[in-house]
Amino acid sequence: MNALVVAIDGPAGSGKSSVSKAAARRLGFSYYDTGAAYRALAWAAMTAGADLTDQDAVLAIQRAADYRASEDPDNQAFVIDGTDVSEAIRGSDVSGAVSAIAQHTLVRAGLVEHFQKVLAGCENPGIIMEGRDITTVVAPEAPVRVLLTAEEDVRIARREAEMSGTTASPVAQSLKARDASDSSVVDFMNAAPGVTVLDSGPLSFDQTVDSLLGIIADVRDAS
Ligand code: C5P
Repeated sequence: MNALVVAIDGPAGSGKSSVSKAAARRLGFSYYDTGAAYRALAWAAMTAGADLTDQDAVLAIQRAADYRASEDPDNQAFVIDGTDVSEAIRGSDVSGAVSAIAQHTLVRAGLVEHFQKVLAGCENPGIIMEGRDITTVVAPEAPVRVLLTAEEDVRIARREAEMSGTTASPVAQSLKARDASDSSVVDFMNAAPGVTVLDSGPLSFDQTVDSLLGIIADVRDAS
């Protein structure tokens, strides 16, 4: 049986990771955070001392890399070339650098191929994969495609709450800079045709999860 693919995109701070994880947990689905793979590659390139603006240099690292993600919503771990980078990839140095490697077309193509293999190899009844281009490039044929949005000020406030101890202005600056850079490569602010928009701004976390579960249930009922 093929797994039901649920594709979720959205900007930084839209809540897509926590909402996707909670929905996967409720459904017994796999969960895959594609941003973690971009972050792990940025970490590997930085650790190797590569010039992140040099596509060939980053591509060489990407092609040689072995990625392993747990796909368990309750136990997220990301291992690249045998090193567990789950914690390291959340650091501000990686957050500040990841958009640079995400600009490279050939690097993206390699990661997209990897993500498509993950989807094809899923052995659970379903998989929720989230990122920036899942509804449009990685899995445009997915039965469930959702763009999770929220106004910029809501997203900044959420990030600030997550990163207690960090002052507001650098959080806002880094989120805005990352969105601006990432938007130049893929459009994750506007829904592609057939993609359902879920605005988490006016909703609580639980309401957002329930809305996503409702969208998935409608598709399952219809099939
Ligand atoms: O989702 P997260 O914010 O952790 O993603 C980190 C970065 O990875 C993004 O800022 C973006 O540069 C890149 N990314 C991407 N395409 C995806 C997922 C993430 O370009 N599908």
